[in-house]
Amino acid sequence: MVAEKVALVTGGSRGIGAAVVERLAGSGYSVVVNYLESRTAAEDVIKRLPAGVRGLATQADVADRDAVAAMAETVRQEFGRLDLLVNNAGQTLPADWRTVDAVGWDRTLQINLTGMFNCIQAFAPLISQSGKGRIVNISSIYSDIGNGFVAAYAAAKSGVRSLTRTFAKELAPNVLVNAIAPGDIDTEMTRSAGPEFVAATVEKTPLHRLGAPAEIAAVVAFLASPDSAFITGQTIVVDGGRSLGT
Ligand code: NAP
Repeated sequence: MVAEKVALVTGGSRGIGAAVVERLAGSGYSVVVNYLESRTAAEDVIKRLPAGVRGLATQADVADRDAVAAMAETVRQEFGRLDLLVNNAGQTLPADWRTVDAVGWDRTLQINLTGMFNCIQAFAPLISQSGKGRIVNISSIYSDIGNGFVAAYAAAKSGVRSLTRTFAKELAPNVLVNAIAPGDIDTEMTRSAGPEFVAATVEKTPLHRLGAPAEIAAVVAFLASPDSAFITGQTIVVDGGRSLGT
């Protein structure tokens, strides 16, 4: 069956991704919710979709090229199209740069950078078909401001911005490709850094609070909408002013 409009959100089981799923479902998308381990959480996200909205939970490690290719084939078979790919899956895997080991460094790049490439490569044929596809990649302000405890993550998120520019050119004019660089958002990722980190980042943020996942979802919705039809290859910073410095 061919659906009207289909979106896939990687890492849609929790945090920002779950808020994006909710927002897109409210805008009439059928939604594919990718997850790594949280099957129950992903299924709960699907259960919360408005009546009549089709959802599908699909497990795949975005770092695993074969698993991503299989996910793309599932979407093709189940929906026959893809209009919006939100490359949101990510992990910080924090470790001081002096002691981070090769496994931690490599895995961080594989999830946050290679994983995004895997998804764009696998879904490019399907998302190009309608001539009006959109890809939104989730970067981070740490790509700009750096951080010694997440050096690999910050480097990967810089790579995300580079991939965004590359694929904006490669997939034009059929697909618009943009990125969002969130500041610190109120999710498990941020809370797991501890209350002292949260207090310090709130202090350094001109708007004096964490962002809400729904505030990132709102910008995804804008980048998926006709209102952004002349924007491609760009990164929108959504950080309450955190990256402006003191
Ligand atoms: P989160 O609450 O920790 O959720 C992470 C999501 O990504 C989960 O759905 C998780 O699936 C999924 N995931 C992790 N590794 C994966 C993999 N290898 N393959 C497939 N899915 C994977 O994180 P979040 O705060 O919502 O962050 C979402 C995105 O925003 C990430 O890219 C993050 O880097 C970025 N970001 C977040 C912040 C922030 O302050 N929170 C700031 C800037 C950028 P499971 O549930 O199955 O584990």
